Amino acid sequence: MISIHIDKVKSIQETFKLEIAAQRQSAFDKLQLIDSTIFSIAERTYLQSVIQLFTDNSFLLKTPSEIETIKINTGGLPPISLFNNGKPEKKQLTHYIQEALGYTQLRNTFYPKYFRNIGIKSCVYCNSQLTVVLIKNGTDIDARLEVDHHYSKSEFPFLCISLFNLFPCCSSCNKRKSSTPVNFKLYTDDVSKIVKSDYDFKITRTSKCNFLLTKDAENIEIKFNDSSVPPIGSKSLQSAFSIKEIHDTQKDIIAELIIKSQIYNESFKRILQKSFSKLSLNQNDFDRVIIGNYTEEKDIHKRPFSKMTMDIAKQLGLTKKTP
Ligand SMILES: [Zn+2]
Repeated sequence: MISIHIDKVKSIQETFKLEIAAQRQSAFDKLQLIDSTIFSIAERTYLQSVIQLFTDNSFLLKTPSEIETIKINTGGLPPISLFNNGKPEKKQLTHYIQEALGYTQLRNTFYPKYFRNIGIKSCVYCNSQLTVVLIKNGTDIDARLEVDHHYSKSEFPFLCISLFNLFPCCSSCNKRKSSTPVNFKLYTDDVSKIVKSDYDFKITRTSKCNFLLTKDAENIEIKFNDSSVPPIGSKSLQSAFSIKEIHDTQKDIIAELIIKSQIYNESFKRILQKSFSKLSLNQNDFDRVIIGNYTEEKDIHKRPFSKMTMDIAKQLGLTKKTP
């Protein structure tokens, strides 16, 4: 997992500022249309405080630390009050607020292009799957963006369209994580967090030889190190999302890298770079063509398995190690 600098995200938000302003206005208007008479006094007070939040033009652009303060000041939802024959109604205040904010529509319309611009196309937790999920829509199949809410939308519905509260991820990680809090900060202004991911992959010393001797990818053994990753609830990243097991199913990617490491030795790479100098590829572009994936940590979110591929390509000497 690797963070993205808040300033980069802000510059992209700037390009969408009219759309984001319209989202805030629409949410504000619809929140006021909620029939508050059906709720308890505590819920009405809560709803009023949520409406008040949306009077701030920049509410959807609040940074992670500002969101933290707002979350503490606003507090949790009051106890539910809508019952039918002693059973809680399916639709409670949290759902009315989420509906007014239009999260479901934004997920289908605005968020895909917004996150494409930021450069997130693979799960920010496992880096092994895309952030889209296919769903049935009548007779059609739609591709829908999967988004995890850092602060869950059921507990903090007023944050469900706040842009810095949205973490694109794959469907399996979203289901497995559910509302468990994650200490990982996808958006940060801490420069040290945007240059290096806090987990890495290696293959064991004997893996390369064993594979070259047998040509059987199953003889490759992946080592996954997540010791620097903050816990997900009470679990390690590995036990929360089974990252190693998922990557173990893709050993053929590593088998190709081992073969490439035999073909693309330094002298052959020099010849190729010289022969195709007209393409004006920089070193990273050139390395990317060879390994078939991104080579820089900051690009991990752009493609599944990029982290494993770049780590093992470096270990095999196919690309240069980061100093
Ligand atoms: Zn995932």
